[in-house]
Amino acid sequence: MQMLSRRDIEYLLAVYEIECDDGLVRTVRLAKRMKVSPSTATSALRRLSNLGLIEFTPRRGARLTNEGRKVVLEILWRHGVVERLLTHVGLTIDEACEVAFRIQHLMPKEALIKICKYLGHPSRCPHGYEIPHPERPHMKKYPICRPK
Ligand SMILES: [Zn+2]
Ligand SMILES: [Zn+2]
Repeated sequence: MQMLSRRDIEYLLAVYEIECDDGLVRTVRLAKRMKVSPSTATSALRRLSNLGLIEFTPRRGARLTNEGRKVVLEILWRHGVVERLLTHVGLTIDEACEVAFRIQHLMPKEALIKICKYLGHPSRCPHGYEIPHPERPHMKKYPICRPK
């Protein structure tokens, strides 16, 4: 998780979102969503594919591997837990979302597990979005919470 950049995570979340709606993620569609050129999207997809997080067929598109899907669900859990922590200590929801997105992937998982426990294993983020939890059965698709 720590080796992923914020940009990698934005790509993974976009792939997750498009895949949930449409199955295979076309490079052009992803590029549009990320507001980049298709060749920029292609190099991002290659990088994630080298990390084993997506399966990428040039000219066709991409989908998450099982590992990639696990990473996305962990990010969504991390995001919700960090947001809860930050609003708990007084940040506004928007501030919490912004800060959470910057630090969520850098924090050690053990710390997150302790924070999650301290917060009573929240099932929703402060915006009211349902968040996955390692100990609960997963829904088919979770809403993505990200800074505006
Ligand atoms: Zn958020
Ligand atoms: Zn928990």
